[in-house]
Amino acid sequence: MEVINSCHDLFSLVDVLAKSSKAIKVASFGLWAGVFANGYSVAQKFNTRTYKTLGVLSKRNTRMIIGKPELICCEDGCKACEHKHMERVGRIKTTLDEFKIKHRIVSKNHAKFYLFDTGRYDVIVGGMNFTTSSWHDYMFRIQDKALYSRLSNDFNRWWK
Ligand SMILES: [Zn+2]
Repeated sequence: MEVINSCHDLFSLVDVLAKSSKAIKVASFGLWAGVFANGYSVAQKFNTRTYKTLGVLSKRNTRMIIGKPELICCEDGCKACEHKHMERVGRIKTTLDEFKIKHRIVSKNHAKFYLFDTGRYDVIVGGMNFTTSSWHDYMFRIQDKALYSRLSNDFNRWWK
């Protein structure tokens, strides 16, 4: 088992494992790569780490299930809160459409994992989202057939 506690280490490992994978399944809560809902991008300007990784994933048979935040308004029918919510959800779709990555944007998903079909049951699982963050959090790289199967079955169920 390998402990990962920085975005840099997480996405470096994802890049490496993706290159030897036939298929990849990703679950995350939210996604940020520097592309806004209307297509405006700061990905190049800030050299977004996640944007680079999406490029790697797009060259493989990758499917992503992304949980979206619930709409919470400061008061009933607040247009500002609704607009902010639409932007947060819309940018996930705009980003994944740009990379032509197959995806589902779903409610009530807070799972974060990567399953790599390398033939070695490579799993990365833990708390980190598909974003660049300096928050304290952990992911674990584990090669385990039972864990891989369990998460793969969950993913397939959520994909429908
Ligand atoms: Zn509001």
